[in-house]
Amino acid sequence: MPTDTKLDTAAERRLARQTTRDAVRKTAPKLHEVIKYPHPILMKKGEPVTEFTPDLAQLVEEMFDSMYAAEGIGLAAPQISISKQITVIDISFKERPEDKLVLINPEVIDRRGKQVEEEGCLSLPEIHEKVQRDAWVKVRAQNVKGEFFEVEGTELLARAMLHEIDHLHGILFIDRLSRLKRDLVLRRIKKLQKNGDW
Ligand SMILES: [Zn+2]
Repeated sequence: MPTDTKLDTAAERRLARQTTRDAVRKTAPKLHEVIKYPHPILMKKGEPVTEFTPDLAQLVEEMFDSMYAAEGIGLAAPQISISKQITVIDISFKERPEDKLVLINPEVIDRRGKQVEEEGCLSLPEIHEKVQRDAWVKVRAQNVKGEFFEVEGTELLARAMLHEIDHLHGILFIDRLSRLKRDLVLRRIKKLQKNGDW
């Protein structure tokens, strides 16, 4: 029976996708430097993506590579100095291939409930604070081909999507803290900067 021409299982299809990605990559991954607060690009709204080219797909792969290299579970294009509405997320950090998520021009279209958990950010190293977020969100976005899709998430996925979508609007998680907490964090950053640790 000829089974060699057909991909039968989800695992095989995943493997095929991975092989395609590896073929696209060609050589060693290109890593982008993650910029830190208070870089002005981080405070700026990203431009919507209008052209869905192979260059965009390549950039998305580079964003995943850069995110993994920085040991993050989410990365937004403004964090690598590209002021565009692109973000990549992998809440299981390579454990489950199906967790790899690309959100282009994302929009939160529904939200419910509240959750409060600690957050960090690759652009704010060493800063960890509890942030209130929606408990459940539904997001509408485009993929690298420009196709629209919807994704729902709770807990960490909801938090990651909201954190990254904030980046695309020039908002950092410290902007979601109380004034008092935010001031304390900013003072801590100033101290780190002064000591050359930022
Ligand atoms: Zn962040």
